Amino acid sequence: MKNITVLGSTGSIGVNALDVVAKNPDRFRIVALAAGKNIQLLQKQIERFRPKIVAVSDAQCACELRNRIPKKSKVRIVAGTEGLDEVASWETADIVISAISGAAGLIPTLTAIDAGKDVALANKETMVMAGDIVTKKARKKGVKILPVDSEHSAIFQCLHGQKLENINKIVLTASGGPFFNYKTSELKKVTLRQALLHPKWKMGKKITVDSASMMNKGLEVIEARWLFNLDISKIEVLIHPQSIVHSMVEFVDGSLLAQMGIPDMRTPIAYALTYPERINNDLPLLDLIKIRSLEFYKPDIKKFPCLRLAYEAGLCGGTMPTVLNAANEVAVDAFLKEIIKFVDFPGIIDKVLDIHNSIKNPSLEDILRADAWARARTKELIERIAS
Ligand code: NDP
Repeated sequence: MKNITVLGSTGSIGVNALDVVAKNPDRFRIVALAAGKNIQLLQKQIERFRPKIVAVSDAQCACELRNRIPKKSKVRIVAGTEGLDEVASWETADIVISAISGAAGLIPTLTAIDAGKDVALANKETMVMAGDIVTKKARKKGVKILPVDSEHSAIFQCLHGQKLENINKIVLTASGGPFFNYKTSELKKVTLRQALLHPKWKMGKKITVDSASMMNKGLEVIEARWLFNLDISKIEVLIHPQSIVHSMVEFVDGSLLAQMGIPDMRTPIAYALTYPERINNDLPLLDLIKIRSLEFYKPDIKKFPCLRLAYEAGLCGGTMPTVLNAANEVAVDAFLKEIIKFVDFPGIIDKVLDIHNSIKNPSLEDILRADAWARARTKELIERIAS
């Protein structure tokens, strides 16, 4: 029996993770949950999974949640960053699923590692911002970081039993998003609704917009650099519209190993929870006869410059990836509020990266300062665009 904490339990990954837990009651038990403001869903999750402790974003949410659950319930409700820390380090947990969206996932993930918990990592922003610190801390503490992102889970599976020096390159696949076939001129007119219609995956809004701009793939390149200790030059991206090959590894002898499966996040989530075992997920099996063909294309970085910006920030290192991530988060938020257009992303992010003096080998404080700095600069730029 594995005791599990889910950070971001009300989100797309959180809900899928709880579904995996619900289907395997003899293997998994939920001990702690954390979410933001979706109190209605949290209430249902508490009733269903009976965690010992639950964190919400603030005191008002905590009060609302307390009012909704029966008085006799023994669950401890906590709030804010302190509450999140308490959940992330909850004593009886064996593994923490890190699935809060955005930079807010970094500190609780570090707290979980500090507390000696294995981490099933969905929150890629953690690795983008502080990959060096996170991987060093995990090594020092002797904890595993198990990828949940389907591409990184695929690479992780292909690398099982392989030597790092035998890798030629890894290939991260990308669906191409909803605008893969659009012309550059057509991108100028795309709406928020169109950007939120991902052709293959049902995910939270932020990552869905990132997939449309291809920033998601850029963040994944940086995440892979740290997860697999590889030079960025060894990480390639290919568009694969069918989303069946989740990623691949090419070895020095020319062999290419790929991991395939239907696009369903419950598969990589379950693998992170059961590694090195596998369980029957009760999901439809991949029918290659029905799929018929698997296509691969080179990404068009002229049409989707966010991917290029991410490669550049990743190569530069230091605090550049943090700044890339922060500028992108603020820009995506403004796009979701319909303040800026889809095509505004690259220009805004590029300007903020351009005026940033990167700090080499940054401490956590340097990273948090760079994050705050980039957010303030991006907001200023967006205000200028909007006025
Ligand atoms: P969602 O937007 O669906 O969910 C985000 C979750 O984080 C919600 O539970 C939300 O709570 C919670 N949350 C947000 N901010 C805070 C905060 N400050 N404190 C506490 N909780 C907070 O996102 P996804 O599930 O799509 O993505 C989560 C992470 O996983 C991202 O980093 C994403 O890149 C990564 N990922 C997601 C994939 C997917 O298929 N969705 C695939 C691969 C990676 P509430 O809603 O209650 O406010």
